[in-house]
Amino acid sequence: MSRRLFLKALSTDLVRNRQVTRPTLSYIPKNLRKRIRPQQNILEDITAPQNEPGPSRGRCGVCSRANDNKYSVKCNKCGIFICKTHTQSIFCSNCVDR
Ligand SMILES: [Zn+2]
Ligand SMILES: [Zn+2]
Repeated sequence: MSRRLFLKALSTDLVRNRQVTRPTLSYIPKNLRKRIRPQQNILEDITAPQNEPGPSRGRCGVCSRANDNKYSVKCNKCGIFICKTHTQSIFCSNCVDR
């Protein structure tokens, strides 16, 4: 095969590949989204708890911003941090009122 023919064949091959891959590329979002989605969901489920272990201490949710102290006690119902004043058994005063 001469160099000229080789280059011509190469160029047509490249063009052919482009023509073949272009429509498949446009299909990628439709086809791959279905495949990728569950994989992404799995990855998110695995990474989310590792990246966000959650603070062990926080401000009292009942006192809001007035009380800047942090507490380690959480309401057993709504999960907000509660200070000793607003701790009623294992619930915050908000949940006890309801
Ligand atoms: Zn409080
Ligand atoms: Zn609560």
